[in-house]
Amino acid sequence: MLLIDAHLDLSMNAMEWNRDLRLSVPQIRNLEIGLSDKPDRGKGTVAFPELRAGNIGIAIGTLIARVKLPGQTLPGWASAEQAWAQIQGQLAWYKTMEAAGEICIIKNQQQLQQHLLNWTNDAIPQQQKPIGLCISLEGADALITPEHALALQQQGVIAIGPAHYGPGRYAHGTDASAHLHKNGKALLQLMEQNGIVLDITHLCDEALSDALSLFTGTLWASHHNCRALVPHNRQMSDAVIQEMIARNSVIGMAFDAWMMVPGWQRGTSTPQQMQCNLASIIPHIDHICQIAGNSLHVGIGSDLDGAFGNEQTPYDVHTIADLQQLNYLLKQKGYSNNDVENICHNNWLRMLQRVLPA
Ligand SMILES: [Zn+2]
Repeated sequence: MLLIDAHLDLSMNAMEWNRDLRLSVPQIRNLEIGLSDKPDRGKGTVAFPELRAGNIGIAIGTLIARVKLPGQTLPGWASAEQAWAQIQGQLAWYKTMEAAGEICIIKNQQQLQQHLLNWTNDAIPQQQKPIGLCISLEGADALITPEHALALQQQGVIAIGPAHYGPGRYAHGTDASAHLHKNGKALLQLMEQNGIVLDITHLCDEALSDALSLFTGTLWASHHNCRALVPHNRQMSDAVIQEMIARNSVIGMAFDAWMMVPGWQRGTSTPQQMQCNLASIIPHIDHICQIAGNSLHVGIGSDLDGAFGNEQTPYDVHTIADLQQLNYLLKQKGYSNNDVENICHNNWLRMLQRVLPA
């Protein structure tokens, strides 16, 4: 089963974690023995060989660089200019991986169709196929001005999520609260006029409600689970799920353990102890499908290796290749082959076909 993963921080892993994603997951883990600069050293689950092994033929790869605002405790660059330079470095890595034949960056419909033909061509060995990659920006702090979004679009970025964790330069995100800032409104207007997708994930409730009333372009939620099942402001309320369905959008399911099972204590709980396995995502998928009355509004947005490793990943997801088991788990839950195809790839394909230029 072809899988599309709508949220992977690939370039952050390359450029901030210093991981060469052409190596396999076990090789990368080996190189990190003895390192303690990040909590997830030696615990990664994502690399190009494992993406191919899991038949993850298309991913949305992020650019991400936060800015540390005065008085804020979360980490970030000291200026928007430094953050901008960081995401330009991340973009350069994607382009270098494309030149090396590891990925192919998808910027238009024709490239999408050609990539799907190549990916499903059995004459090419799976481990030699470039992985299709669309590029998004997670958190807009790095945009020196709203107009910098247009420069990024020229460079291939198709979606922007204005917020991340905490206070942001354009919008407040997870664990913060404020209405959309003035420059956030200007950014949304530019995005709408120029066909850049709004990724609503991480927007705090106030900014999200402003964004939903202002923005009439295409939106999606790249990595977002259900608040009704695991209560937290980072999660999506049923009212917003209904709004996403009404706008014919898609919500990507995240495989960050604390968002999958209730009661997770960060830094203390373990996936085994909390019985968090791949099947723990099925209630979230089913919750959205039951609200919608169909399987058209949910997909995968795993966020694996999004600054956490297997200490915070379902215990039976040894690498990202194990997401392929979703096919079996959904069928076991009673989902038809058609439903499984929708969830695994067709829903994200429909969104990409809607937003990529001709
Ligand atoms: Zn995120």
